[in-house]
Amino acid sequence: MKLRATVWGENVHETTNQIVSEVYPEGMHNQIAKMLKLDGDIETRTATLQQDEHGLSDEVLANTDVLLWWGHAAHGDVDDAIVERVMRRVWQGMGLIVLHSGHFSKIFKRLMGTPCALKWREAGERERIWVVNPSHPIAKGLPEHFELENEEMYGEPFSVPEPLETVFISWYQGGDVFRSGLTYRRGAGNIFYFQPGHETYPTYYDQNVGTVLRNAVRWAHNEEAHANDPSDAPNVPVGEALEPIKERGPRLHKDGEEGLR
Ligand code: ZN
Repeated sequence: MKLRATVWGENVHETTNQIVSEVYPEGMHNQIAKMLKLDGDIETRTATLQQDEHGLSDEVLANTDVLLWWGHAAHGDVDDAIVERVMRRVWQGMGLIVLHSGHFSKIFKRLMGTPCALKWREAGERERIWVVNPSHPIAKGLPEHFELENEEMYGEPFSVPEPLETVFISWYQGGDVFRSGLTYRRGAGNIFYFQPGHETYPTYYDQNVGTVLRNAVRWAHNEEAHANDPSDAPNVPVGEALEPIKERGPRLHKDGEEGLR
């Protein structure tokens, strides 16, 4: 069975900034999709902010195993209802890969529950990405470390929750370090944050970055997804308790009543 990936791109700087449009003439989302297509088991589609429902209709999300998210200039323009919809799908088991400046996207902040802030500097520094968890599936096929000649510096402290796993730590020419590859689980959904991907540099043409993205899609895919909705909060009547019990004390709710939210 194919893995169904949807690459969501904000697609703003590609159309408004000359440098970015020269690096990514077809848009960053299309270049990221190209990198994913090198894995014949990944079926890729794209969606952008400008489309109806940002290209993320119920139907698209229902047919997405892993969603990749790149945004920067227009986080605030993403409709809250769509953010809620994506979050529910993550809870149900859709994988989510958040790229670079997506650390400040509504969806990532909502899922993390923390400010997700960091230090930054746009000086074209060399970034050395260290694989600190070499047996992790996302690191499969990578060398001990690899370099990107130009990247934006993202530095610690990065105000995210303690991750499930740290896959990469980056060093930048100016001396800063950053936890650049982190995994999380929210509901049944696997989440991976990956730092590289500033829009004025050709990061998404790099072969090692491509390997990370393809590995991450495979890792984030949860085959057991969709069976349950973790937001369900069923009321179990006394008569359906596993062991017979007698109801005691006063109660607020009637049998079968929906809980308060
Ligand atoms: Zn950037």
